[in-house]
Amino acid sequence: MKEIIQQYLEKYGFEALCPKAVLFDMDGVLYDSMPNHAVAWQRSMATFGIEMTASDAYATEGARGVDTIRMMVKKQQGRDIDEQEAQRMYDEKTRQFHLMPEAPIMPGVLELMKQIKDCGLQIGVVTGSGQRPLIQRLLNDFKNYLAEEHITTAYDVKRGKPNPDPYLAGLKKAGNLKSYEAIVVENAPLGVRAGVAAKIFTVAVNTGPLPDESLIKEGANLLFADMPSFNLQWNHLFHQIYDLR
Ligand code: CA
Repeated sequence: MKEIIQQYLEKYGFEALCPKAVLFDMDGVLYDSMPNHAVAWQRSMATFGIEMTASDAYATEGARGVDTIRMMVKKQQGRDIDEQEAQRMYDEKTRQFHLMPEAPIMPGVLELMKQIKDCGLQIGVVTGSGQRPLIQRLLNDFKNYLAEEHITTAYDVKRGKPNPDPYLAGLKKAGNLKSYEAIVVENAPLGVRAGVAAKIFTVAVNTGPLPDESLIKEGANLLFADMPSFNLQWNHLFHQIYDLR
């Protein structure tokens, strides 16, 4: 673990990792919602003659929905569509998503948040979603750990993941933190790329069907198979970070 932290510090020329906040992605990290998203993507895009597989949904996870749609339309129909047309198609995806049963809280995540809070760190959420009901749900489900001003959504940034912008906005909301003052928790390749691009120590939790390699190659500093595994290692990670300071 120490070598991994040292590699991170050397890569960016930072002196120490001094985390004050943990920034969580939402879908596939806080909620086991990716299976629902994959189905909603397939069904909604089929109505527009776009073939989107579950693998496509997982591979593009984390990007703004409208960006994914413009890319798929270009690839399959050779057309450039504007943001408004993409938004109308995305509205259908949102509608399909809301027909699905409510996704459960990811097992282990409440326990992890408790440990993080007990260590004196703040919790933030950085999501590409902009759906108000989901934000309200976050505030209900994680009320002991999360405040509304620490949630960064699609509306806070112009450029979504895999750009660093959402995580840079998350650092700002956490109290103008530097990159070495936070830890990112992500499950998707584009999300990991965004955390790494923001120079934040990025933990990948592979809760979906993609191979571990897809997260490692984007630069994830640590990888766990699921949230309970991360939960078990949290104290060890925190103490190793502390020892290196
Ligand atoms: Ca995600």
